[in-house]
Amino acid sequence: MNNRKQGTKAVWGGQSELFYHGSTEVPIVNSVTFGYDNVDDWFDVASGKKEGHIYSRSTNPTVAVFEEKVRVLENAEAATSFSTGMAAISNTLSSLLSRGDRVVSIKDTYGGTSVLFLEFLPKDGIEVSLCETTNHEEIEAEMKKGCKLLYLETPTNPTLKILDLKRLIKSAHESGALVVVDNTLATPINQNPLELGADLVLHSATKYLGGHSDAMGGVVCGNKDLIQQIFHYREINGASLHANTAYLLLRGMQTLELRVLRHNENALKLAEHLQKHKKIEQVFYPGLESHPGHKIASGQMTGFGGVLAFSVKGDFDNVKVFLNSLELAHLAASLGSVSTLIGPPKVTSHAETTVEERKQLGIPENLIRCALGIENIEDIIADFDQALSKL
Ligand SMILES: *Cc1c(COP(=O)(O)O)cnc(C)c1O
Repeated sequence: MNNRKQGTKAVWGGQSELFYHGSTEVPIVNSVTFGYDNVDDWFDVASGKKEGHIYSRSTNPTVAVFEEKVRVLENAEAATSFSTGMAAISNTLSSLLSRGDRVVSIKDTYGGTSVLFLEFLPKDGIEVSLCETTNHEEIEAEMKKGCKLLYLETPTNPTLKILDLKRLIKSAHESGALVVVDNTLATPINQNPLELGADLVLHSATKYLGGHSDAMGGVVCGNKDLIQQIFHYREINGASLHANTAYLLLRGMQTLELRVLRHNENALKLAEHLQKHKKIEQVFYPGLESHPGHKIASGQMTGFGGVLAFSVKGDFDNVKVFLNSLELAHLAASLGSVSTLIGPPKVTSHAETTVEERKQLGIPENLIRCALGIENIEDIIADFDQALSKL
């Protein structure tokens, strides 16, 4: 399967053999426990001598197909899954880091990740250094002071900043650090950090992998030894993915490539349209040539993703009028759904930050983040235009 194209992998990854009774589709195995005809077989599976399942907190046949599909899409040796994206992130960090270790990352990580860095890891005696997101020199200098793990995200949320993965991965390895990349916004269709040298790539499967805003999950991929270490922590920590959810994620993932190509196309068209609109102040989208990270993004991504941000002219009242006038977008958090989701970071992802902190992060008060769905873009543009005309 490794030499197939991404769209083929999305359909066939983990599903090239028939299942129970010749099912072509993945059965949902809701059984908590798995029985054996004799004690010897049971012990062989339990001790890892034979393949099989013992108890669904550790492994489950439906969940294993989900892990296999993501593994294939990221061209990884191994993958393990979690109940949410945050579980993937926190379990990965907790299983790899110990008291006294130092982590280098960026200021613009996902909100929940940033709370781990600022609040929880320091409590466990782990030192965290968060750098200005696109300041590659600062990140490299921080790593030289000692670094167990470099944690990256690109594009970032909500202002779509771009990091040069190849460069930072190389510097991290020179400093002896492991590199973990959150690839949620890009998806395995647009970007494959493992191919650029990263040690681990993780996803909130809640977003584009599942793709329909009806299931939560997380996954991390990388080499067998690292994944075994993370898996072992997760099976004890207990943040396991459920078979029913794994099924929803698998069903969504079969159309991953189709959807992501459409998300990419819709976001680029909307970004180009908004950039020319007289009521728009600024558009943040790495697919635009005017974006400071466009060149790097073009070198490491095959598409620029479905998330963009923009600021409307005027104050926050204009943001409210615009958002309240939209007909074809949910005013809601999250991203990666078939329907367009939109909202201001000021009251969603960055509600806990002050005006000054948002300014430092380069988040204008009148910023709006939009996660394009897969609708016909003509309708979305017409809807945006009628809403902007109310300002
Ligand atoms: C949503 C998100 C997460 C967290 O995922 P959950 O499934 O909500 O726990 C992590 N990273 C990024 C980039 C996200 O967008």
